[in-house]
Amino acid sequence: MSELTELLKALIEIPSPNPPGDHRAIAEFVALWLRNVGASVAVLAPAEKPEARSVVAVIGSGDPVIMLHAHLDTVPVGESEAAAWSSDPFRAVERNGRLYGKGSVDDKGPLAAMMIAFKKLAQSEHIGTLLLVAAAEEEVGGRLGTRWLADAGHLPQCDFIIVGEQTFNRVATAHKGVMRATIRTTGHSVHATNPDRGVNAINAMARVILALETYHQELSLRVHPLVGVPTCNIGVISGGATANAVADQCMIRLDRRMIPGESPEDVQHELQAVVESVGIAPATAEVGEFLYSSWFESKLQTPLGKAFLECSSSLTQTPAEPIGYLPGSDAKHLMGLVRGDMVIFGPGSYEVAHTYDEYVDIGELEQCEAVISRFLEQVMRLEVQR
Ligand SMILES: [Zn+2]
Repeated sequence: MSELTELLKALIEIPSPNPPGDHRAIAEFVALWLRNVGASVAVLAPAEKPEARSVVAVIGSGDPVIMLHAHLDTVPVGESEAAAWSSDPFRAVERNGRLYGKGSVDDKGPLAAMMIAFKKLAQSEHIGTLLLVAAAEEEVGGRLGTRWLADAGHLPQCDFIIVGEQTFNRVATAHKGVMRATIRTTGHSVHATNPDRGVNAINAMARVILALETYHQELSLRVHPLVGVPTCNIGVISGGATANAVADQCMIRLDRRMIPGESPEDVQHELQAVVESVGIAPATAEVGEFLYSSWFESKLQTPLGKAFLECSSSLTQTPAEPIGYLPGSDAKHLMGLVRGDMVIFGPGSYEVAHTYDEYVDIGELEQCEAVISRFLEQVMRLEVQR
C-alpha cells in the first residue's frame, strides 16, 4: 500500500459518524499527523459542542493564501445499512482496486489526499501560506464546524480554496442552495353532515398545492449553465383530525432548491406571491418557518483558479471546463473568506457516499492527490498575481 492508501485506511478505522458527531479521536489523529510534518496546528471546537473538534493546520506565511478543506465526519451507519455492507464499514478493505469503508470517498479520501499534498509542500521550499482545514459537522450542515470556524475568526481570507468532495476529479464551481418553508391554511371546523357551513382548510391547501406545481414548472425557465434549474417540491402534508369534521388546519412543508444568483428574500416573496395568488377566502394561508442554506458559485477567473483547472484537466485528461455539483457542501460557509476562486474537487461520486459498500477507486484517489500536489508545486513556488 502507498502512504496515501495507508493514511486513508487509518482514517477509515477511526469512526466519526455524525450524529452523534464525536470528532475527538479523528481530530487528534489528524492533528498529530500534521504536527509531525511541521505544521502549526490548532484543534478547535465551539463551547456549544466541545466534541465537535475541527483541525486547522498552517505552514508558511504571506501570499498567496491557499486552503485545502475536507470534513472529518461521516454519515452514521444505520442498522439496515450495516446489514447490507459486504465488510465491516469501519475496517478498510482493499478489493479490485478499490478501498471500501465508511468515509472512504466522503470525505476521508479527499482528506487523505490533501494531507499528503500538504506534507509534500511542507517538505519543500515554498512561498505563501498553506492551510489544511479538517472540519467537523459537515454532515449535519456545518453550523458548528466550518460556519463556526469562519465566524469565530479562526480562518483567514484566502486567495484560493479547494473543498474536497466527490466530483470524479472534475472541477466543480457551483452548487445549489435550499430554502425550506412551511405553509399553513386555516379554516373553520364544523360537523361533516353540513360541510358548507364550515371552511375546509384541506380544500384550500389543495388549491395552494396546484399553484405551487405551476410555480415549479415555471422555475424551469431559469437555467444555470452548471447546476440546471431551480425546483419546488412539497415533501410533507398533514391536516384535519377526523373524517366526520371539516378540517380547520392543513400544513405542508416544501423544499425549494435555489440556483446561484437567487436571493433568499426574493424566494420568500415568490412563495408568498404564489399563495396570495390563489383565491381561498374565507380560509387563510400563512407562509413561514423559512430555513435557508446558501448556494455556492465561483467564476474561475483568477490565475489560481485557471491554474487549478489546467492542472486537473491535463492530469485527468478531462475537458478544461468546470462542472456543477448536485449536493451542498461546506463551500457555502467559505464564500465570505475567499477573495479569489473556490472549487470543489475530489475522487468518486456522491452517489456511493451515503450508502452501504462505500468505496474509493484507488487510482482516482491517487490522481486527486497528484492534481493537488502539482497545483501547489506550481503556484506556491511562483510569485502569483492576484
Ligand atoms: Zn462530504
